[in-house]
Amino acid sequence: MKPFAFARPGSVAEAVRQVAAEPGAVFLGGGTNLVDHLKLGVATPELVVDVRRLTSREISDLPDGGLRLGAATTNSEVAADRRVRERYPVLAQALLAGATGQLRNLATTGGNPLQRTRCVYFQDVTTACNKREPGSGCSAVNGYTRYHAVLGVPSAMPDPTAPETCIATHPSDMAVALAALDAVVHVLGPAGERTIPFGELHRLPGDDPSRDTVLGHGELVTAIDLPPLPDGARSAYRKVRDRASYAFALVSVAAVVAGDSTSERTVRIALGGVAHKPWRAARAEELLRGTPLTEHAVGHAMGVELTTAQPQPGIDGGNGFKIPLATRTVVATLRDLTRET
Ligand SMILES: Cc1cc2nc3c(=O)[nH]c(=O)nc-3n(C[C@H](O)[C@H](O)[C@H](O)COP(=O)(O)OP(=O)(O)OC[C@H]3O[C@@H](n4cnc5c(N)ncnc54)[C@H](O)[C@@H]3O)c2cc1C
Repeated sequence: MKPFAFARPGSVAEAVRQVAAEPGAVFLGGGTNLVDHLKLGVATPELVVDVRRLTSREISDLPDGGLRLGAATTNSEVAADRRVRERYPVLAQALLAGATGQLRNLATTGGNPLQRTRCVYFQDVTTACNKREPGSGCSAVNGYTRYHAVLGVPSAMPDPTAPETCIATHPSDMAVALAALDAVVHVLGPAGERTIPFGELHRLPGDDPSRDTVLGHGELVTAIDLPPLPDGARSAYRKVRDRASYAFALVSVAAVVAGDSTSERTVRIALGGVAHKPWRAARAEELLRGTPLTEHAVGHAMGVELTTAQPQPGIDGGNGFKIPLATRTVVATLRDLTRET
């Protein structure tokens, strides 16, 4: 491990100042992702600034009926909170589908959505990876692609030598639920405070795969707000993976269904495991607004949503299976939500 300086400042403002002043500085939350990266040589910071005892560890009611999750709340605390379980079951389920009890006891609301991809090439410093080392190429193309993206990628076989190529997926289960809940991220940075709609926090690789989010250097997540859902709304998370626990999503679905009658029905669908960011299925949502959620209607809407999907070939058989799997998982999730109504 490369040696680094460690700081535990006395306030969030001081933490932001310290990170902003040092280009090689990073924040430390629960450390369950960052510390692995320090050991692997994936992250080589000059300075690590511990913020876990600085940001709020409260889950508080908001005047509009929503909830605010302080950035230091742990994944276990949020999943166990009665208000979260009753009002946002999709979030509690997503959290409990992730990692293990021990990891969830450490992982934080600030750090979880900012965890980095589990792409095996990103984590292996002996391989080329545009995300870890910009301009070095992408070893995943035509490599091991089972956990890789089918949405938001330019073609069925992007140029592995191009500096913009990256077919990694975002790994967080929590982030998929937060995308479906239209959560709002509170940030404190060197230029002051700002809020970011959760759907705009993560980015597609574009011309710079090394950037996972729109956060600037030194911007600290201080809290995440969950807006209230309409009365009677139902929500659920479904994760398909290779093992029943301790495995990241091949495909996951966070869904929210609201509306007393079919004509008033709205559906929100976010997909995990399929793109560089949690993927809001906006086209499918629009097609399903005010319609009966039959298997046929949902299958058709997802077919439209996935028209731009690009299955990636690979030494492990590729990841084309994710396209029908995404549709089947959405069908099953919405069937469960409406069956119980
Ligand atoms: C074996 C294993 C299995 C796992 N399985 C799953 C799984 O199935 N599903 C899943 O979703 N996750 C899984 N995880 C990942 C785990 O959920 C994350 O490591 C954890 O949520 C990260 O949170 P943290 O607080 O520990 O972040 P850290 O490791 O402390 O930080 C992660 C990143 O966020 C930055 N950061 C931290 N806090 C802040 C802040 N407040 N503001 C700005 N930047 C910040 C850090 O600089 C770093 O870049 C697994 C991890 C392991 C080791």
